[in-house]
Amino acid sequence: MNMASNDHLALLAQRIFDDLRAMSPDGAGVSRPAYSQVETQVLTYLAELARAQGLAVETDAAGNLWFSRPADREAARFMVVGSHVDSVPEGGNFDGLAGVVAGLLVLIRGRDRDFRLPVKCLALRGEESAWFGSCYLGSKALTGQMSAADLTAPHKADGRPLAEHMAALAIDTAPIAAGQPLIPLDRIAGYLELHIEQGPLLVERDIPAAVVTGIRGNIRYRSVTCTGAGGHSGAVPRAYRHDPVLAMADLLTRLDDSWLHILQTGGDLVVTSGVVGTDVARHAITRIADSISFSLDIRSQSNEVLDHMRDYLHEEMADIARVRGVHFETGPEIAAAPALMDDAMAAGLMAAMPRAGVAPFSMASGAGHDAAVFAQAGVPAAMVFVRNRNGSHNPREAMEISDFMVGTNIISAYLEATDP
Ligand SMILES: [Zn+2]
Repeated sequence: MNMASNDHLALLAQRIFDDLRAMSPDGAGVSRPAYSQVETQVLTYLAELARAQGLAVETDAAGNLWFSRPADREAARFMVVGSHVDSVPEGGNFDGLAGVVAGLLVLIRGRDRDFRLPVKCLALRGEESAWFGSCYLGSKALTGQMSAADLTAPHKADGRPLAEHMAALAIDTAPIAAGQPLIPLDRIAGYLELHIEQGPLLVERDIPAAVVTGIRGNIRYRSVTCTGAGGHSGAVPRAYRHDPVLAMADLLTRLDDSWLHILQTGGDLVVTSGVVGTDVARHAITRIADSISFSLDIRSQSNEVLDHMRDYLHEEMADIARVRGVHFETGPEIAAAPALMDDAMAAGLMAAMPRAGVAPFSMASGAGHDAAVFAQAGVPAAMVFVRNRNGSHNPREAMEISDFMVGTNIISAYLEATDP
């Protein structure tokens, strides 16, 4: 890599991040609501910057922006480097935006280089579910996957549906409601997304960037209820108890043991029970609870592991119910399939890592991304994660520009033709 141009691009990236942070401040962080005026202002800023850099700018029928070298504007088939420009309320500046800035930098550097295939950068709207309860709005609209429920989803602040918010931005929702892709999807040879890592792995392992192998799917139960028998904490002997709290503890311990086993045998899994509670109106320190409710969120890159965990969960609930004389009720299951990243693209990115000055490293993504929407639509997709401290969806997100440049350089090295 040409160091001078790398330094120049790093300074430009820093300026874009600083300018857009200043454009959307909220508390200690930034707020860029999905399909809002602020989101439009961010896109307008990026369009002006791209034009000043000699790039062509187009808007699609869902209000997403496309950037390309002028010569590639009408290309029949092209690679896409993109991500989203919206944020959660009082979120961090880099979630989403980093991937869009990376795409722009790839194009700016590509002005005097050859790409193996034409490249377009895509700035998507509306990825975060925080605003309408529904996520991936810009990419779902683009790929013809937006549902009627998405279009009628009410905004968290004003209660007006997404379709009205889109109409207010002069977006015609009729073609989107028809569920047809807004461009022929076979024109997209592949979708690449750089994103900050939202977990601690790269920080813990001291690695600046990684290739993502897959986006975890999940099975979720909002509220599993375990019902037993209440009683006096001092008066009921162990043998006569049907304590739902201990039954839940048994279940979580067994799920945890199974989790460890699956990891030790090379599988991918995460298990979380983030909402746990006995009934506030009836519980007391001296009372055996009569019921407890808890959430379960089970995620894996592998459908097989998810199916196994679903079976295991139900077997263990039946066993614990028998032993402890309690009753489990899971309520409805919410499921999302894992999104596999394209093997050839992931391998190509891994091979590009040494050319960007880092050793090849890959990992799973625990959170969902627009890349999953493209994969679902049959477009080969791949992702690069960049090291980031303090998690994401909060103002304390911390990505170093030098790490960001490593991630961007991996994508450039992958897209640029290596032989003359
Ligand atoms: Zn994001």
